[in-house]
Amino acid sequence: AKKSGKNNYEFYTPELNKTMTRKTKIERELRSAIDKNQMELFYQPQVDLNTGEIVSVEALLRWKHPELGYIPPDEFIPMAEESGQIVPIGEWVLKDACKQNKTWQEEGHPKIIIAVNVSVRQFQYGNFIQKVEETLRENALDPQYLKLEITESIIQNINESIMVMERLNELGVKTSIDDFGKGFSSLSVLKNLPIDTIKIDKSFINDIGDKTSEAMVKTVIDLGLNLNLNVIAEGIEEEHQVNKLLENKCFVGQGYYYSRPVPAEEFVKLLMERTLI
Ligand code: C2E
Ligand code: CA
Ligand code: CA
Ligand code: CA
Repeated sequence: AKKSGKNNYEFYTPELNKTMTRKTKIERELRSAIDKNQMELFYQPQVDLNTGEIVSVEALLRWKHPELGYIPPDEFIPMAEESGQIVPIGEWVLKDACKQNKTWQEEGHPKIIIAVNVSVRQFQYGNFIQKVEETLRENALDPQYLKLEITESIIQNINESIMVMERLNELGVKTSIDDFGKGFSSLSVLKNLPIDTIKIDKSFINDIGDKTSEAMVKTVIDLGLNLNLNVIAEGIEEEHQVNKLLENKCFVGQGYYYSRPVPAEEFVKLLMERTLI
């Protein structure tokens, strides 16, 4: 029933037809996208907000479709999560990201951490730890240069997630809570999570400048700092946001203000310049 879409026969307009075609196409062709070499990682620098120096990088998935062009992850990841395709896709992402980071290291660039997004479904899949171990080994990447970003939704399966995180800690791999502050039902759970970093959701950064919301940013940063976690801001688009973050002791961030996510060969140029401001 999902395949035909529930509005398929209700209203039939050329516009709707177009979007249906796109969605159906994406759904149908996702399965073979990896084999056809259509998946690609883009890279967005994470910088020291004081100096503009690149300290780490986030890998962000793109699907380069022969007809549709670059398809953003928001358009196919939810689908892939539902179908289970996210597991092989996620394995490909992890592999490619580790391989790329190792290549940069071998080229003699300053060693940086690569942050890889992991969907909850992938994280809680049976052999996840094994896959991480295997990928690190195959690429001879030192585990300290890998960070896994997971969203707050792991909360739904908290005990199992904590176990996986502890295993990752033992391996020496870092973990981060992505989109932090967006959905936590119980902040008290946070203190029990064996994580390294929280990444403040970009909606909070967006709210900087709005006096009533600004206190929230400070609260979220303080929470992370009080728990001795690294705090990273995402979605920085303007200089005044940088200033406010520094004022509140958040010292690392990423966003269009510094750079959009870019292909590997462009990122390496940024890495050679090192400083983005
Ligand atoms: P996310 O992990 O929260 O990634 C941040 C998103 O914000 C990225 O969108 C990034 O391009 C965008 N962004 C960066 N700087 C700015 C800025 O200054 N302003 C604004 N407005 N946006 C900014 P993108 O690349 O389209 O990815 C969307 C989401 O798709 C990601 O959100 C993540 O949840 C998911 N995703 C991306 N790659 C992967 C992957 O390899 N695996 C999984 N499971 N999910 C992925
Ligand atoms: Ca992320
Ligand atoms: Ca995020
Ligand atoms: Ca997100």
